[in-house]
Amino acid sequence: MNVSIIAVGTELLFGQTVNTNATYISNQLNLMGFNVMYHHVVGDNSGRLKALIISTFVESDMIILTGGLGPTQDDLTKEIVAEAMGVDLYFDERCYREVKSYFDDRNRIMAENNRKQAYIPVGAEVFHNEAGTAPAFGIEKDGKCAICLPGPPREMKWLFENCVVDYLKRFSSKQMYYRVIRTIGIGESDLETKLLPIIDNQKDPTIATYAKEGECTLRVASQRETMTEAQLAVENMIREIDKLIGKYIYSYNDEELAEVVVRKLRENKLSLSSAESCTGGMFASCITDVPGASNVFSHGFVTYSETAKAGVLGVDSKIIEECSVVSSEVAVLMAKGAQKSSNSDIAISITGYAGPEADEGRENGNAFIGYACGNKLGNKSGFIEINTKRNDRKWNRNFFKLRML
Ligand code: ATP
Ligand code: MG
Repeated sequence: MNVSIIAVGTELLFGQTVNTNATYISNQLNLMGFNVMYHHVVGDNSGRLKALIISTFVESDMIILTGGLGPTQDDLTKEIVAEAMGVDLYFDERCYREVKSYFDDRNRIMAENNRKQAYIPVGAEVFHNEAGTAPAFGIEKDGKCAICLPGPPREMKWLFENCVVDYLKRFSSKQMYYRVIRTIGIGESDLETKLLPIIDNQKDPTIATYAKEGECTLRVASQRETMTEAQLAVENMIREIDKLIGKYIYSYNDEELAEVVVRKLRENKLSLSSAESCTGGMFASCITDVPGASNVFSHGFVTYSETAKAGVLGVDSKIIEECSVVSSEVAVLMAKGAQKSSNSDIAISITGYAGPEADEGRENGNAFIGYACGNKLGNKSGFIEINTKRNDRKWNRNFFKLRML
């Protein structure tokens, strides 16, 4: 079944409100095995809304609308949906009592215009709203279906979970299963090229790639008669994907990079510490954001000045002077200092020029990531050099953080 979503509200067109309703509904619909065709946004304008509903019904069997179910003059979704579908509105006594008791329960006087909310299109199935005043509904006519939900996300979600999911079951015959795979170290177009042999002519499971913040995500989804079939199809496809790009995959379960780091450390019973300069604690913050990080992360040193690097981590001031504070030598010494004073199994360090201006003839975005391991891992140490060549402090800091992970 093809479904489209129409979000109604001039504030959405102004960019004052982000259309999170469409994201939420799309996600839910996909999970239930519906094909989402279009997301539309339209202002509080009856002519345009009616034209949009009519044109959307050409390709879509169902439209889910949000917004414009309130009591005010500009709330006109219900009236226009009824008009576009060729049905009248009637005054629903139960809806009226519910709207009224919503106000009574809160010791508030109901405004006269709230009566408007009790009008429902003839033939509609009402979704009684326990999270607000606006009754929502679904209506079917001539093989087309419209579902109207209020705009406030909290109300919309309550209605979706408690009423719409059940209502939709009668339209859905297929089950959807999907997995999200995360990759790093490969660009989106490279990834697609490598996967071309299986992406080409692929109808089910579908493979979609998304790039975000220096990494790429793959969504592998299948819609089948049963959940077991869909699951099997996805698992088989993931095995194929693994053969082609396995070395870039860091999670098969949509985990964040930091989550995987914490999980791996926990599995291997290893501890971690950090010594940061230009990232100012971002790495430590990223790790400690993960629940359970306290089991693996012991210390996070932020040694921004040269004095701190020397005093706290024991980096030799002469080496800082000779090699520069942004150098592989200093990175390694910072990591060694952090490892020693925290007695952790692994210490990670970072020193770099985050911009906007670099000194000593160095470029912005030039940085060194050092590591030092304790006894358990053979006392190894080393570094990698990175250069983002970007003159953007925020971007560089985030990039370093990512590379450190
Ligand atoms: P109300 O009774 O509050 O008037 P309504 O159904 O008429 O409800 P709107 O007036 O369109 O809904 O929107 C109410 C509020 O809900 C908006 O100010 C906005 O904050 C939020 N909202 C509306 N549409 C969306 C959307 N698509 N995504 C996220 N938030 C939304
Ligand atoms: Mg409104």
